[in-house]
Amino acid sequence: EEPDSVPIPDTPLAVLQQVFGYQGFRDGQQEIIDTVIAGRDALVIKPTGGGKSICYQIPALLRPGLTIVVSPLISLMKDQVDTLVANGVAAVYINSSLSREEMLRHFTAMRRGELKLVYVSPERLLQHEFMERIGELELGLFAIDEAHCISQWGHDFRPEYAALGRLKQWFPHIPVMALTATADEATRQDMLSRLSLTDPLIHISSFDRPNIRYTLVDKFKGIDQLLRYVAEQPGHCGIVYCSSRKRVEEVAERLLARGHKAASYHAGLPLELRQSVQERFIRDDLDIVVATVAFGMGIDKPNVRYVVHYDIPKNIESYYQETGRGGRDGLPAEALLLYDPGDVGRVRRLLENSDNEQQVQVELYKLNVMAAFAESLTCRRQVLLNYFGEYQREPCGNCDICLDPPKSYDGTEDAQKALSCVYRVGQHFGVIYVVEVLRGADTQRIREHGHDKLSTYGLGKDKSQEHWVSVIRQLIHSGLLTQNITRNMVLQLTEAARPVLRGETGLQLAEPRLVRVKQKDKGEA
Ligand code: ADP
Ligand code: ZN
Repeated sequence: EEPDSVPIPDTPLAVLQQVFGYQGFRDGQQEIIDTVIAGRDALVIKPTGGGKSICYQIPALLRPGLTIVVSPLISLMKDQVDTLVANGVAAVYINSSLSREEMLRHFTAMRRGELKLVYVSPERLLQHEFMERIGELELGLFAIDEAHCISQWGHDFRPEYAALGRLKQWFPHIPVMALTATADEATRQDMLSRLSLTDPLIHISSFDRPNIRYTLVDKFKGIDQLLRYVAEQPGHCGIVYCSSRKRVEEVAERLLARGHKAASYHAGLPLELRQSVQERFIRDDLDIVVATVAFGMGIDKPNVRYVVHYDIPKNIESYYQETGRGGRDGLPAEALLLYDPGDVGRVRRLLENSDNEQQVQVELYKLNVMAAFAESLTCRRQVLLNYFGEYQREPCGNCDICLDPPKSYDGTEDAQKALSCVYRVGQHFGVIYVVEVLRGADTQRIREHGHDKLSTYGLGKDKSQEHWVSVIRQLIHSGLLTQNITRNMVLQLTEAARPVLRGETGLQLAEPRLVRVKQKDKGEA
């Protein structure tokens, strides 16, 4: 049968307007599209909803040959293909949900050059049969969606992505485009090297969501705090994320008992029920969905006014994705994290149950970064954006730290002590060790390295261990120190540390909140 396709205009802008019905390009799209059409590799990092899809869909239409899109989720594949077909683009998906006949029909259409895009799962792409078939075709582009899945440093490593690294060997002349919504610096580097991209264009969009207010409250009787919070949001829609199905059910029950239009959502519920919750929420029939992380993939509800994390998320990427479901309409929204340091220990023990030792290490590291975010005394947005490599010099004015600042002091001297200690130990040691040297600890390890002879040894013994850990965390958060993840998290100085070390600039630090004060609830919305 003939696919129901329309003639394709010949410039990216014309395709954008006539095929997709949009007026103009968004941040970076034009450059990415032009580059890829010209045959160069690209790495595209844009937040969810940022418009990654047309970055490969338009090149797919304008380059000769077939574009293969690798995508990990069957449901997302189907949505994408349905939208394309509705716009008159010849696209199909091939995955385990198809019958053998359907698949063969698609193979025939591929061979006849009738298709512009084929969506496949990584497993399917790498199957011998599929490889052989596309080996005979003219190919235009490989687009790898959710490309962070290739990296163990990503928050969602998928072993079946690993072999995608070989695409470049098999098809050295076909451009490869990697797209993802989340990648810290380590994941970025890892993606580039694993995919062997050749001199790629690297596009990184801003991750800032200025209309989202980040707020953290020390969790203490979380359910009461949540009920009070929600009571202050009449008529507003929100999502409450919990770490377990059991917790989801408990919290939803309490909200229902208070008369809220709430429902629970997790992977243990029947598919029809989950779909109906999702639809009712989108139609504004529900005010609150209490959910595990299973909720949200592909949800594009504009008017979510608050996202509560009842438990600590496993990593910053998840936190950013989940809070990012608030305020899609650009109006103010709030991300509230109920933080109990004890939750960190619980999540840690869960993570440690996994068999994959290397993966456990990565996930524990990511959890620690998440905990450090929660304990940070630096502007939340700065920490968050720094994490994604988007360095921010100024505090944001729209987070709990900015709005309700912790007490600060002239930390220049403390910063100098800590920074020079990091320097004196050769930038070869981690936080705990540096703090031990600063506090003049009498340990064998320090003596073995001769660090008890350093001028910085014992220089900070008048202050507690918590104090120094807090100082170093703040130096990390504000970009003066980094932790080298490829070398056992040793502390290293950045360029920004120089002026402070030389005494050219001062530095305000926050008083560590050694005793956690129960934060007062937000008064007004
Ligand atoms: P991502 O994959 O980055 O999460 P999508 O590609 O799904 O984002 O795009 C998010 C939404 O923005 C979609 O509805 C898409 O059609 C729309 N969109 C993308 N680019 C543009 C544009 N240039 N103008 C208007 N809307 C756009
Ligand atoms: Zn801030």
